Amino acid sequence: MSLVINLFKKYFRPIEELTISEWADRYRILPSGSAESGRWRTSRTPYLKEIMDELSPQSKTQKCVVIKATQLGFSELGNNVIGYYTHHDPRTIGMWLPTEGMVERHAKKKIWRMIEDTKVLKEVVSPRIRGKSSETSTISQILFKGGSLSLYGSNQSSSYRSDSINVIIKDDVDGFTKDVEGEGSPMELIDNRADSFANRKIYTNGTPTIENDSHIELEFENSSQADYYMPCPYCTPKDKTIQDKNNMVVFELDNFTYNEENYKLISGVSFVCPHCGSIIEEREKTLMMDYENGAKYIDKVEHEVKGYRINSFYSPLGWVTWEQIIREYLKAKKAESNNNKRLMKRFINTRLAKPYSELKEVLPYQELSKLKIDIDRGIVPDNTWKIIMSVDVQGNHFWYEVRALQYAYKFHVIDYGRVETWEQVNALIRATYHDIKGDVFSIFICAIDSGFKKSEVYNFCSENSDICIPIKGKATMESRYQQRTQEKEIQPIILHTINPNYFKDTLQSHILNRLENQDREEHIMTFHAQSDSTIFKQYVAEHRELKGWVAHAKDNHLWDCGTYNTYLSELLQHRTKNKEHEERPKKKKSRVIHRGISPNYHGSYLDNY
Ligand SMILES: [Zn+2]
Repeated sequence: MSLVINLFKKYFRPIEELTISEWADRYRILPSGSAESGRWRTSRTPYLKEIMDELSPQSKTQKCVVIKATQLGFSELGNNVIGYYTHHDPRTIGMWLPTEGMVERHAKKKIWRMIEDTKVLKEVVSPRIRGKSSETSTISQILFKGGSLSLYGSNQSSSYRSDSINVIIKDDVDGFTKDVEGEGSPMELIDNRADSFANRKIYTNGTPTIENDSHIELEFENSSQADYYMPCPYCTPKDKTIQDKNNMVVFELDNFTYNEENYKLISGVSFVCPHCGSIIEEREKTLMMDYENGAKYIDKVEHEVKGYRINSFYSPLGWVTWEQIIREYLKAKKAESNNNKRLMKRFINTRLAKPYSELKEVLPYQELSKLKIDIDRGIVPDNTWKIIMSVDVQGNHFWYEVRALQYAYKFHVIDYGRVETWEQVNALIRATYHDIKGDVFSIFICAIDSGFKKSEVYNFCSENSDICIPIKGKATMESRYQQRTQEKEIQPIILHTINPNYFKDTLQSHILNRLENQDREEHIMTFHAQSDSTIFKQYVAEHRELKGWVAHAKDNHLWDCGTYNTYLSELLQHRTKNKEHEERPKKKKSRVIHRGISPNYHGSYLDNY
């Protein structure tokens, strides 16, 4: 008896219980001329199912955010949401598009066509009739039994102030205006319109654009950030209860294999399972992506807002192929090698569904040789205020950079290199340098990296406390730097902790200032005449990402030295030394750096404490 009831329930579920994906499978007809025409089949784009289910009334989820490649069916998903909440569970619906100009076209081509083609919608929607009446629809104001659908452009400021809306759809949000007449981001203003509904549903989708300046990236960052995981046909356990992130796979560019010659694809493209190394052909992806086989979104973090990311490699068979994607990639790489970054940006945005980082561009190291000037190694340039030094400590050797701080906030690298012993470091900090007039300079202060061999560094700094300070980088700190006495040490010592991202940004700007304008004479950096690829390669060993500087080459030690020297410049308030005055360095006086620097330079560092 119960079997009969179960079967009955399975095949004759009451209409009230439908989810959006079930509703679409039952009623939705796609217009001819679209990528897939005829009856909607959720199984065709399996990665849409879970999102439609979360947007259904059966789920408690209020908000879904999708960061996506183009042409994957996410606008149709929005149309299914509209169809469902028009016919099945009528509510007040608002849909936002990037501009007011797009509203009429979208309404005519997409929404009204869906209504015409889908019988149950046509039955409930009030027709458009010439001559306005409160009971007939207009192109962008569609009335139906129990609710309405209004379409807006994100640049229509009036759209943020009307009545409450129960279901919100924001389509392609990276095209949205950045700021609504001083009222803030449209993302929040739109969502606010559903505040009064406990059962509200908000669906946001977008293809990212520029890193740090992308609505969808920001929305996605404040979500559960799920990727779509699939079983590997060769190694993932068949038992779905034990399938997880660690034994399933995602499609990422790095896991595809192919042969290329001169940016031309000369083989097929396959996916290599990162767990078992099996080669997987594109035709196998339909089974892999099928939710019946266990494919599912797995959250990166727990969050009440559900976030999903999908790139073009998930495109259903018959749409965009892996070969097509890799061909576009190679073409973009070729253009990039000719300094044209437009195609790569488009590829990263529209195929990988990732924001494009403009700062990620790395300078070719040869560019830096333009910063060499005609002053020999070891010679102090004119207009020098003080000379400073920094040391990066490695396992069995050291890297160092000696730098002149010149008036007008200029820097010049007098010397750099590698030494093997503490004795050699000692000789370097005690060395004297001279300018062409014969004036003598000594190292005023030297920062020594204590992140690695802390006790050796502390000892050396204690023994040379007139010049040396220990320093450490900590990317997570909120202030630019701080100085703390390390009380637990046998000899208490002041450790300088810096946020390397801030000082690397500053150092980078000095380098770029001069490269962009060879005539520029302030806020710039130069190198001695014998400087070579040793320092230039290390100076471009890192690139800036949203969250900080990341090394892409192994040797970045001189770049670290440069970062510490940039900190010393700030510590000494070098920026304020505009012209030569009576403070010119005299022959070496005895100075006590630890007790000397902190009180004298309170002004700047207390602000950051
Ligand atoms: Zn495998």
